[in-house]
Amino acid sequence: MKKYASAISFIIITTIIYLSFSSLMPKEKSDTTIPLNEFSSDRALVHLKEITQKPHFVGTTAHKKVQEYIVSELEKLGLTTEIQEQVALNKKWRAGTNTQNIIAKIKGTDNSKALLLLTHYDSAVHSSLGASDAGSGVVTILEGLRAFMTTHKAPKNDIIILISDAEELGLLGANAFVNHHPWAKDVGLVLNFEARGSGGPSYMLMETNGGNKKLIEQFAKAKPKYPVASSLMYSIYKMLPNDTDLTVFREDGNIQGYNFAFIDDHFDYHTEQDSYERLDRNTLEHQASYLIPLLNYFADADLTNLNSDSDNVYFNMPYMGMIYYPFSWVLPMIIIFSFVFLGLLIFGISKKKLILTQLFKGFIPFIFSLLISGFFTFFGWKLILKIHPQYQDILHGFTYNGHWYIASFSALTLAICIIIYNRYFKKIEAKNLIIAPLFIWIIINITISIYLKGAGYFIIAGIYGIIALALLLFSKKEHQSVLLSVLSIPVLFIFVPLIQMFPIGLGLKMLVVSSIFIVLLFGLLVPIFSSYKNIKKLGRLFLALSLLLFISAAFKSGYSIEQKQPNSIIYVLDADKNEAYWASYNKKTDEFTNQFLGDTPTAGGFDNSTTASKYGTKIKLHKKTEVKTIIQPQIEISKDTIIDAFRHIDLKITPQRKINRIELLSTNALSFKTFIVNGESLPNRNDSEFVFKTNSQVLSYYFANNDAYLSIRFSIPKEQNPSFIIYETSYDLFESMAFDITPRTETMMPMPFIINDAIIVKKQINLD
Ligand SMILES: [Zn+2]
Repeated sequence: MKKYASAISFIIITTIIYLSFSSLMPKEKSDTTIPLNEFSSDRALVHLKEITQKPHFVGTTAHKKVQEYIVSELEKLGLTTEIQEQVALNKKWRAGTNTQNIIAKIKGTDNSKALLLLTHYDSAVHSSLGASDAGSGVVTILEGLRAFMTTHKAPKNDIIILISDAEELGLLGANAFVNHHPWAKDVGLVLNFEARGSGGPSYMLMETNGGNKKLIEQFAKAKPKYPVASSLMYSIYKMLPNDTDLTVFREDGNIQGYNFAFIDDHFDYHTEQDSYERLDRNTLEHQASYLIPLLNYFADADLTNLNSDSDNVYFNMPYMGMIYYPFSWVLPMIIIFSFVFLGLLIFGISKKKLILTQLFKGFIPFIFSLLISGFFTFFGWKLILKIHPQYQDILHGFTYNGHWYIASFSALTLAICIIIYNRYFKKIEAKNLIIAPLFIWIIINITISIYLKGAGYFIIAGIYGIIALALLLFSKKEHQSVLLSVLSIPVLFIFVPLIQMFPIGLGLKMLVVSSIFIVLLFGLLVPIFSSYKNIKKLGRLFLALSLLLFISAAFKSGYSIEQKQPNSIIYVLDADKNEAYWASYNKKTDEFTNQFLGDTPTAGGFDNSTTASKYGTKIKLHKKTEVKTIIQPQIEISKDTIIDAFRHIDLKITPQRKINRIELLSTNALSFKTFIVNGESLPNRNDSEFVFKTNSQVLSYYFANNDAYLSIRFSIPKEQNPSFIIYETSYDLFESMAFDITPRTETMMPMPFIINDAIIVKKQINLD
């Protein structure tokens, strides 16, 4: 046994690491042979293919077609559908449109609170096919409902289905429902299906104004088979300014619920690669694995009282489901374990089992591992960005070969740890070596208990370290690697997926966090590794592996049909100056943009005004070009009167061509008293939010299929001088007869998050 101990321990650890990822999601595929009363992803995919033929953002004919398809599918299930048409405005984004929500209801037997199933059917402007975001949600709900209605007798609660519109433009459909629809007040709980990539596990993230206690207990009771959720994510999510349809329910309606969202393969998000083919089939199964049990459970559960004041710490454990306990345990737990640690320390030292000098020396390899790994990962990634400047064009912050970098930096970190520790394994006994990492883990847990209680379950790492230390102190046997490996299973299950989650969730710039995490885990497992006979070889193996992975990543760094290069071009006509420009958000020209910008474009933007973009991206290149005849919008001021201290103005902009949006910028500082867009008033709850500085975006209005004009009625203090610039945008650069354009090659695609492939007319409105 002893002879093979290292090998057995190594096999245990690698197997658990593998399972920690593979156990997160379903692997079995539900094809069409699945009985009709169950969910079949193959049946769901039939819908997906249908609704992802073309980009279907607000204002397109494809948008209308997708809407009609969903309505007809809901009606096939015997449901009566309603299109809620409502102008909605998002105060924070200053965005608006005329939304068309698809709504249906399954009547419940009790007069209780309703369960609402939510996702959105509009795709992101302007080239996304919307397969993952949020076609996957639409088809999960369609197929899930079908299976539910095949088996389930009448539910106790009403079940409202809301396939919302204009989520991508500022959560506007959800806004229209929560603030205007009579059913909104009946909703007790929301299940929202979303995507921020095209694969990976789907995470459950709650939205609640109160505590999570009851919501997490009910979620566990519903028994989803593959729950992936943790209070760490919940705590971080609460600190960030989050924007999902469910946020609107929570903020405007005090209605709580669960988001189910997958985030891996983020590079596909909002691009034309968000396609039917690229949606990970297992991910779709994962979404269904939430919907089906939760729909069955909450159809009959009591939804009237899901509020709670207190929070739970929770996390998912493979094969065990959700584990949770109150936030109030976090502090006592860390106090108890700190004392146990201290007790063991005093005992060990007094019995001469722990030697003070060795114990202090044990900090050297640990601190060095942290510093050197951190240094190599942080600057290594910076270097890689220098070597491959094209990575800057992937605005998502996660490159196509991003997973290769996670793997290579992980291997590199392990190699660094082993190489540093190897010298100390012979000189210092394991029980002395584990003190340093364990001490740091305890400090981390104390910090968590004060600032980030959601990460309270990190105590499990501390508990493992204490058990390992006790074993080493009390056991006569010299090596315990197999037993210690078995005991480490919960630690590996919980913490290894986080190594991948941080850079996937927050971008590759977070690789350094993964590295530090690996060192922290390595430190805990030091008693295992110190007993390995071939540890030196293992270190070299990881170094070689890391090198191999870096080389593979380099080979996969280029663009191809599968990994398209994002680029951008817009035509801007300044109608007042009668000047026109080509502009791009790319730093360098390529085969495609060269036809517009030539070999010598000017760096930067052509004037100091900016247009809104998701990540504040600015125009990088431009070139003056020929002025084309583009029919300009009609601008009408039908009212301009002063009543008391205020000036009231009615402004109407009527485009004379098919356009997609009008952006209104104020060139002077203004403070609006009232602001009404196409009949809908921007709620004026807080006056300060109506103050606009010079050159700030006042409104982005997206033209829906049935919008003919934009009417803005507002009032301002009479001494203020309103002066606006409008940008009238259409995404039809390629269709326009005015331009002769060679299309992108098949290894290119429109850059996401910015205005692209657009004709923009800039015009001044003077009201002096
Ligand atoms: Zn979405």
